[in-house]
Amino acid sequence: MKTLLLTTSEEDINLAASFVKEGGVVGMPTETVYGLAANALDTEAVKKIFEAKGRPSDNPLIVHIADFEDIKKFGLVKEVPKVAKLLAEKFWPGPLTIIMPKSDNVPEITTGGLDTVAVRLPQDVNARRLIKASGCPLAAPSANISGSPSPTTANHVYFDMQGKIPAIIDGGECEVGLESTVVSVKDDIITVLRPGGVTVEDLLSVYDKVEVCDAVLNKLKEGETALSPGMKYKHYSPKARVVLVKSSDKGFYDFINQQNSADTIALCYKEDEEFVRIPSILMGSKADLEAQAHNLFADLRLIDACDNVKTAYVRCPDSKGIGMAVLNRLIRAAGFEVINLDE
Ligand code: AMP
Ligand code: MG
Repeated sequence: MKTLLLTTSEEDINLAASFVKEGGVVGMPTETVYGLAANALDTEAVKKIFEAKGRPSDNPLIVHIADFEDIKKFGLVKEVPKVAKLLAEKFWPGPLTIIMPKSDNVPEITTGGLDTVAVRLPQDVNARRLIKASGCPLAAPSANISGSPSPTTANHVYFDMQGKIPAIIDGGECEVGLESTVVSVKDDIITVLRPGGVTVEDLLSVYDKVEVCDAVLNKLKEGETALSPGMKYKHYSPKARVVLVKSSDKGFYDFINQQNSADTIALCYKEDEEFVRIPSILMGSKADLEAQAHNLFADLRLIDACDNVKTAYVRCPDSKGIGMAVLNRLIRAAGFEVINLDE
């Protein structure tokens, strides 16, 4: 199959929508990461998403809508809980996914067999144009091969999906650069299942009962069930080994400068550049968590683009604000391999 790289012109959006209407899968820009989009209510179309990604079938997809009223129009949920309505009013359109009780209209394949459905109204105008032109809600996971870093440019999507899907809309670099925050709203408590662009601090500014699921920053214990099935899988990983390093600035420099510069790379901050004597990828300024989030997946992809790199040592970000989302992705990219030099 030839994969077309499309612009965001009216004509191209309509062409992408025509692929969706025929039951196909297309690459869709959003403000979080690029998605692999298909009609969320069409079992055969959604099956193609799982095939293109190589995604385990028990890992459910997020259903994207263009207006709050789409929830009712397409009959996606049994009810919109009161707290979900509040969150939608405050944070939609935006990088927040809300888990709600699913209606019978949503096929099992979309929700991985769960009785809940994840819904998001994206901020990205081109994502919403595509949803509207397609005339259906779009199921869209990140448009990468399952397990590898998520795509934040159309070229990333092309690299992973070339020949597997008919078209990718090039909407430029994703603004946030990390996937949406996923929350459940059971028993009047908001539980963060995956941190993202809407931070815990943002949620607490509109509602006081906010919890963060233990699995966000810790490995699931043996036999423990994942509230969000995606959390049990290795994720976001380049082919090279990634190790997260918790340490002071000086501790990091002493450690990294002893490594073999022929096959090791450092992922560190702009301020570290003059002190690190092995090849490095700069993730942005230490205090600029938004920049670290924005650059993270491109930086993880860059590790594999560098010749001969076997190991990448990554500085551990601050877990405040969007830093929690950066840390959540890095811990998984490292397969939970963390060195603590401060202990
Ligand atoms: P991605 O498609 O890569 O953005 O990942 C979507 C995330 O949302 C995964 O971690 C899924 O496990 C999670 N998710 C989707 N639907 C549900 C649901 N109904 N209940 C819990 N988690 C969900
Ligand atoms: Mg993903």
